[in-house]
Amino acid sequence: MSSETFSFQAEISQLMSLIINTFYSNKEVFLRELVSNASDALDKIRYEALTDPSKLDSEKELYIRITPDRENNILSIRDTGIGMTKADLVNNLGTIAKSGTKAFMEALSTGADISMIGQFGVGFYSAYLVAERVQVISKHNDDEQYIWESAAGGSFTITRDTVNPPLGRGTEMRLFMKEDQLEYLEEKKIKEIIKKHSEFIGYPIQLAVEKETEKEVEDDEEEIKDDGAKIEEIEDEEEKKDKKKKTIKEKTVENEELNKTKPLWTRNPEDITNEEYAAFYKSLTNDWGDHMAVKHFAIEGQLEFRAILFVPGRAPFDMFEQKKKRNNIKLYVRRVFIMDDCEDLIPEWLNFIKGIVDSEDLPLNISREMLQQNKILKVIRKNLVKKCLEMFAEIAEDKENFTKFYEAFSKNIKLGIHEDAQNRSKLADLLRYHSTKSSDEMTSLKDYVTRMPEKQKNIYYITGESRVAVENSPFIEVLKKKGFEVLFMVDPIDEYAVTQLKEYDGKKLVSVTKEGLELEEDEDEKAAREAEEKSYEGLCAQIKEILGDKVEKVLISNRISESPCVLVTGAFGWSSNMERIMKAQALRDSSMSSYMASKKSLELNPNNSIIKTLKAKVEADKNDKTVKDLTLLMYDVALVVSGFSIEKTDTFADRIHRMIKLGLAIDDDEEETASDMPALEAEDVVEASEMEEVD
Ligand code: ADP
Ligand code: MG
Repeated sequence: MSSETFSFQAEISQLMSLIINTFYSNKEVFLRELVSNASDALDKIRYEALTDPSKLDSEKELYIRITPDRENNILSIRDTGIGMTKADLVNNLGTIAKSGTKAFMEALSTGADISMIGQFGVGFYSAYLVAERVQVISKHNDDEQYIWESAAGGSFTITRDTVNPPLGRGTEMRLFMKEDQLEYLEEKKIKEIIKKHSEFIGYPIQLAVEKETEKEVEDDEEEIKDDGAKIEEIEDEEEKKDKKKKTIKEKTVENEELNKTKPLWTRNPEDITNEEYAAFYKSLTNDWGDHMAVKHFAIEGQLEFRAILFVPGRAPFDMFEQKKKRNNIKLYVRRVFIMDDCEDLIPEWLNFIKGIVDSEDLPLNISREMLQQNKILKVIRKNLVKKCLEMFAEIAEDKENFTKFYEAFSKNIKLGIHEDAQNRSKLADLLRYHSTKSSDEMTSLKDYVTRMPEKQKNIYYITGESRVAVENSPFIEVLKKKGFEVLFMVDPIDEYAVTQLKEYDGKKLVSVTKEGLELEEDEDEKAAREAEEKSYEGLCAQIKEILGDKVEKVLISNRISESPCVLVTGAFGWSSNMERIMKAQALRDSSMSSYMASKKSLELNPNNSIIKTLKAKVEADKNDKTVKDLTLLMYDVALVVSGFSIEKTDTFADRIHRMIKLGLAIDDDEEETASDMPALEAEDVVEASEMEEVD
């Protein structure tokens, strides 16, 4: 039969070399990976058969069978799962790149362990830890039986299978074991590994074991068989009956089931040890590490289901990847696996939760479409969310554990605040932020509230790109002086979460970079501010005229005490930080951005010497030209310190250069003619050249 040869996709080829050449002693994980693939394949055919039972006709029994062949040093792992068509073999086993391939190699180079392979979606290649050559014989209902074969080295072959017995349906992996890996052919070893890694697989895992039995056979038949020659003796009938029977030892092969344990979730939680949960978690998820928390419960009454939910020990490498599976909860109906990506089972923000749900009420042959409308499923979902929140609150009782949890999953919690109106306030209890008073530890909103001075009514926060940026921001100058704590929100998702959260414990969450900041003034403070507003009316009006449409308003600030000015944004529009985030998103809707883009107001600090001097200049000569130049420069600087970006960097640079020249007392007329001078404003050349004349 002619074979076709294919090249492995480059990264896969690289991965295979790495697997073959890395010195690594814990090779037994290969069996867990191959059994897990077999189990996945069985899940798939069982799911298809729910709507079309005839799909099982090709092979009715669902099982995984491991057969060691010690004579030829071959380990075979066979399943009666969905199988692979020729195209599947080519695509799934070598030519289509997976994001996990590269991610896994990177992880390895930074000290990750090969046993983590399953998490990265490339578990199949772990076969090469122990085998020098691998054959995958597979039969899918829609295609003929094919053999995939490779001894690594960059290529594999596909051949129509005309030599092996027909599989009916499913896949047989044949591992031609390396000389020094023959221990994996031992029954004892295989049993031990299956017990350790695959005990909770939902299909029978059989091991073909050799048994010696004693059997009586007719003597002469045996002799004929033995050497083909007949030893004829003439005896009477009686003698024949007595003599010609003897017992021989016969080798037979029996399939022994290795995983007979009852599904863990059907057992009483009180009887289950933490080790059993840990083992179940690992077999469920392919995770190499332990889970962080587990919740095992049964709901009874109107509706009945059991569930085990796990918080993993750490975030997966691809948690927020777009194409990724939406959730990790396996749905069972009366112990029968239905599907593992039922979108409506748990909300997206909980996609890091792993576990199983086993319903007593759903119909067995339920389709994806039916599930979307299903009332039972809605109730299950609600309960799962509730139990997850309970589990998180339990984690929060232990500070150290919670820090780990928050590092890994705070984005999910914030996404939850954005999306789940019903549970928003419960989730808000889980938020932690650095703040002007928190030092190195993060603070909860609850603790923030206990520290609020009596006159403080609101919870104040600042959003920005990094802790350093917000910590030194002019926006918090006065708040710090007043002893009002400010929360630092520096994760892009904070912007989204906080706009939905709005308040905590009856207190409004107020952004210190937005318009209309009230800052609980007392009578004296208020009177002083009003007096200043009056005396600065003239300067504000003049600056507004200079800046024109760049700003909405120019006014006196109550939030800065050192910097000359800041730009604040409208109370309901985007903050400067949000504008930055939106600009970074390539697919944003541009009509939205012009609508939401911040309307800025310039706030002046009446106690700052620059502002004071500008005021004096304007009062002396309303049309003082240097006031215009300096105002524009001050505006650009305000953009930067307020977290915006400068649009015309060249004009900005020109202005700064002019200041530098001024500082160095360079007289431009000696170097350049007036017309060579950079214009102050690119769009405003006439005015600029007028100014040169004045100089
Ligand atoms: P993963 O299981 O995470 O998808 P693997 O590298 O273990 O990654 O397997 C790659 C793919 O090969 C699987 O997704 C599946 O499509 C296919 N495959 C592997 N083993 C089997 C099998 N026994 N039966 C059917 N398909 C299989
Ligand atoms: Mg796999």
